[in-house]
Amino acid sequence: MISVDQALKKVLENVDVLEAEERPILDCLGQVLAEDVFSAINIPPLDNSAMDGYAVRSADTRGASHKSPRILRVVDTVAAGAVARSRVEPGTAIRIMTGAPIPEGADGVVRFEDTDESERQGIPAEIGVLIEVAPGDEIRRAGEDIAAGSLVLKQGTALRASEIGVLASLGCGKVKVIRRPVVAILATGDEIVDITQPLSGGKIYNSNSYSLTALAQHYDAIPKILGIASDSEDSLLSKLDSGREADILITSGGVSLGDYDVVREVLAKEGEVVFWRVREKPGKPLVFGMVKGWNKAGEAKSIPFFGLAGNPVSAMINFELFVRPAILKMMGRKNLSKPTVSAVVEDAIENTDGRRVFTRVMVEKRGGRYFARLTGPQGSGILTSMVLANGLAIVPEDEPGVKPGDLVEVMMLDWSEEVE
Ligand code: AMP
Ligand code: MG
Repeated sequence: MISVDQALKKVLENVDVLEAEERPILDCLGQVLAEDVFSAINIPPLDNSAMDGYAVRSADTRGASHKSPRILRVVDTVAAGAVARSRVEPGTAIRIMTGAPIPEGADGVVRFEDTDESERQGIPAEIGVLIEVAPGDEIRRAGEDIAAGSLVLKQGTALRASEIGVLASLGCGKVKVIRRPVVAILATGDEIVDITQPLSGGKIYNSNSYSLTALAQHYDAIPKILGIASDSEDSLLSKLDSGREADILITSGGVSLGDYDVVREVLAKEGEVVFWRVREKPGKPLVFGMVKGWNKAGEAKSIPFFGLAGNPVSAMINFELFVRPAILKMMGRKNLSKPTVSAVVEDAIENTDGRRVFTRVMVEKRGGRYFARLTGPQGSGILTSMVLANGLAIVPEDEPGVKPGDLVEVMMLDWSEEVE
């Protein structure tokens, strides 16, 4: 049996970053840039107004005040997206809307509120400026956000909404990104029935394929459901065959010591077992290895294979601890760890046999501190205990447990990976 840390190290040693592909930017949320992105344009493209008001020559406003307004002749109005037809000559002003290019001759903008416009009728022929305008006031400079030719997004950047918005602002509709891994998911067990079928004696619905598919989607991979294999090598092999082009293969169940637990034997025959059984609770029977597969061109490759424990909670926790980091590494992501918080535990947690214990908890912040409450019975078959949880409290291998009031480290399941 190996430790959680050793197991994760072995998983990551066995997975590589995938190839790049070019994709429309809206398909790229969560993917990692495989190229540096430079801007061909200035953003904003021209000096423009930051306010609705009047474009003026600052010199014309010297000494202006509420008591002694400077009166300027209004020669034009310019809206965003248009260009003024005339220049701002001495003694004149051009009415200007936010985002409209600054007319020639002007070197500042005075807001409507700082003129006497509200006292005049309609669009006035003259305007009184009530404050002194300094050169550059209320002007957004061309290229102040992004200068033409500059490096905007570096290779290796994970694309979030803000990066996708910036790409659009550059007029960039497609980018090169590391592709998403295809994760093939196979349930095993003679008792497992698809949710479209009626239940009969001793059977249960296949929940693992659904929770694992949702996890794969959540972590930006492409799930591929392979169905349900019964507990025989033949059934497992034939179902696995439709996943041989995937980038990751996952099974659930059939990895313990029961009479019908055949997953490990199949992995040993079809590839190589890297480790079996991890010093953790739940999820101990996890088996990991590399199995023979092929790429789209039919060339042989080796696919990381996770034989997850069958109990619904164990399968999900195995996924969070080991499959999730593998997916993220394959996608080129650098931050692979879920954040942890230090929380005051409100219930006792026992650790009886020297494994790392992951206990489902609801973490709440009260008065600036985190508190962790157990979500009820912790049996690894009780999937509703995951529904009630937002974190996993971690009791280290070498600690006998924690009692109420102790501090415990909690891995936050719903938070994004922390920046490392
Ligand atoms: P196993 O390791 O195959 O003995 O499975 C452990 C437990 O998890 C058994 O109670 C199984 O019925 C249950 N289990 C296995 N696969 C699934 C699945 N796909 N959906 C729900 N429960 C499952
Ligand atoms: Mg089974």
